[in-house]
Amino acid sequence: MLEIHTVQVTPFVQNCTLLVCSKTGRAAICDCGEAAPVLAKVAEMGFEVEKILATHGHLDHISGTAEVKKALGVPFFFPPGDEFLRVSLPQQADLYGWGRVESPEPDGDLHEGMALKVGETPLEVLHCPGHTPGHVVFHDAESEAVIVGDVLFQGSVGRTDFPRGSWEDLQQSIRTKLYTLPGQTLCHCGHGPTTSISREADSNPFVRA
Ligand SMILES: [Zn+2]
Repeated sequence: MLEIHTVQVTPFVQNCTLLVCSKTGRAAICDCGEAAPVLAKVAEMGFEVEKILATHGHLDHISGTAEVKKALGVPFFFPPGDEFLRVSLPQQADLYGWGRVESPEPDGDLHEGMALKVGETPLEVLHCPGHTPGHVVFHDAESEAVIVGDVLFQGSVGRTDFPRGSWEDLQQSIRTKLYTLPGQTLCHCGHGPTTSISREADSNPFVRA
């Protein structure tokens, strides 16, 4: 089982999630877009962080990662389909006036079907392209939770007008990878409130089941 804590980061109000294995107390930081508030939360709660994960390569999801990786000395796992975004992070940050931001070096890939654990909790990795080509989500069946990044939001879906976005791929990802999960599964979104698979499958104005 996972306990999930959220820290809102960056001017884009991105939800960084801390995934904590309830059995071992070990934790993963997912979508570390800013270092200081995440490191403060980790210290406050006394989490034993073992890795950093990213759903995709947009700047609000990975900007603080190099700094936190250095501070905690933990490995970083990244979806290789978003490599073009990771390497252009300093340019993305410049464009939005965020100052100097370093690209985090991955220590391993994230791909569908891989064996990934937080502590002793297995996490299922699902490839959900569309918002970005490499985008992945993390599903824990036992906790009935999925970290969906910028694929699906409460009453909305991820933008597809960024470089290499695809509306066709996004709809396909949502219908075949997310709406097929149990309806009560809670979706922890990259922005905005938490929702559920059944709520979005029944009422999302952009993509219905
Ligand atoms: Zn994004």
